[in-house]
Amino acid sequence: MSRNSSTAVIATGLAATLFGLTACTATGATPAPRAAEKPRPGSAGLGDRLHPGLGNGGYDVRHYGLDLAFTQDLTRYTATSTIAARATQPLSRFNLDLAGTTVSEVTVDGRTARWSRSGQELRITPQVPVPRGSAFTVRVRVQAPVLNAQRVSELGTGSAVGLFRQGSWIQALNQPSGAHRIAALADHPAQKAPATITITAPSRLNSIANGDLTATRRAGAYTTRRFESRRKLATELLQIGVGPFTVVHRQGPHGIELRYALPTDQARAIEPQLDKTVPKAIRFLEEHLGNAGFPLGTYGVYATPMGGELETQSLTTLAIDELTPEEFANNGTDSVVEHEISHEYFGNSVSPRHWSDLWLNEGHAIYYQELWDAREHSGDLKESMHELYRQANTNLRKLGPIAAPRPSAFKPRAMAPYGWTAYQGGALTLYALRQKVGEADFQRIERAWIRDYRDRVAGTDDYIRLAGRVTGRDLGPFLRSWLYAEKVPTMPGHADWHS
Ligand SMILES: [Zn+2]
Repeated sequence: MSRNSSTAVIATGLAATLFGLTACTATGATPAPRAAEKPRPGSAGLGDRLHPGLGNGGYDVRHYGLDLAFTQDLTRYTATSTIAARATQPLSRFNLDLAGTTVSEVTVDGRTARWSRSGQELRITPQVPVPRGSAFTVRVRVQAPVLNAQRVSELGTGSAVGLFRQGSWIQALNQPSGAHRIAALADHPAQKAPATITITAPSRLNSIANGDLTATRRAGAYTTRRFESRRKLATELLQIGVGPFTVVHRQGPHGIELRYALPTDQARAIEPQLDKTVPKAIRFLEEHLGNAGFPLGTYGVYATPMGGELETQSLTTLAIDELTPEEFANNGTDSVVEHEISHEYFGNSVSPRHWSDLWLNEGHAIYYQELWDAREHSGDLKESMHELYRQANTNLRKLGPIAAPRPSAFKPRAMAPYGWTAYQGGALTLYALRQKVGEADFQRIERAWIRDYRDRVAGTDDYIRLAGRVTGRDLGPFLRSWLYAEKVPTMPGHADWHS
């Protein structure tokens, strides 16, 4: 999300598991049978300190399939999730995350499974336990109404709502935990996986989702479109769009596919601003982060009346009324566009291991946004960082350390850690690191980060380790003093700054 967002939501592989246990050894010999492992339930969450219930233990997700079918008036839908997984323990039972919605069917490997619900957990008991290392497919069908709202800002604080609608438009707003209000999912970035999304919507409207459109089938009043995200997709970055829009395709720098979903009656008025800004912002980031190629190969914008400024993967959501020439000229929409594009690296390609690591998404997005503003709008990076430094102690006291925010400080708690510390505090930490190691080493750290963790999950410790490895210096004490303290340390090179 952007810090400029009108929403109250402030502005916005797993380690490979060894599956050889039930297979033959490399020599072809059959391993001695292990003492029979008793199947047991997978855990209800991944132990995330801010969101302990999100994600699910006992299995890795290999692929998400999500089929959504809307009614003609868009007030209701059916969602079928088909999740291909592999057990990391013998499973007598396992969970998916699910809130709201009415469950109508649950199967495991095609056979009806028992299920029950507890809070935001769907507990599934297959007819036969799943052995450790086994692949299995769970399918869950749910029905739900689509929430009605005029704008994202109207949704109020804590707006990780999943799907919502204004008239003939639908969009998703999931950060950090709205996706399991849409369908049954493993709703934590650590369980990201490639995804196939299928949308069936009234033929008079268009539809769009993350990834590439690979099939369209019209059957009378309904049209079905299939979208493939070959790269891993975190559920918080899921986007489902339906509306009276036209999709315009363009070529970006070195062959990057660009697509803009624009309201059909305003497409001509909006597109010139995007044509001018999006390729330029991609090139700007590549100047800093290297020309190794945009992480996801494709990028787009979904312009909606509800807005949101959300970096939903490969398809940023922006409000139609902030895409006018006046808004670009006077209110810095280009800066928001740049912020959201930087998330394709920071957050989407490299996803947070824990939600406390959000500063790695938002701190980077703010840092590069400040660099963009310095160049495009005669901003002064040092001055804006000085201002953030002044604000630091007040915010650290209120919200807790940058990489260890206090859950109780967020209202509602479900919106932790979306606040000053992750955004501005994260950017300030990156600036401090640059001051400490110099521009050249800082750039080497950043480039190694997006290269080494491309399409993976990574956290604060990974960043600290990588910074040390790249520079040959132990930067742990320095970075930890910035990330885990409630009092801002001295800014290298600016001992005269006060907070
Ligand atoms: Zn953001």
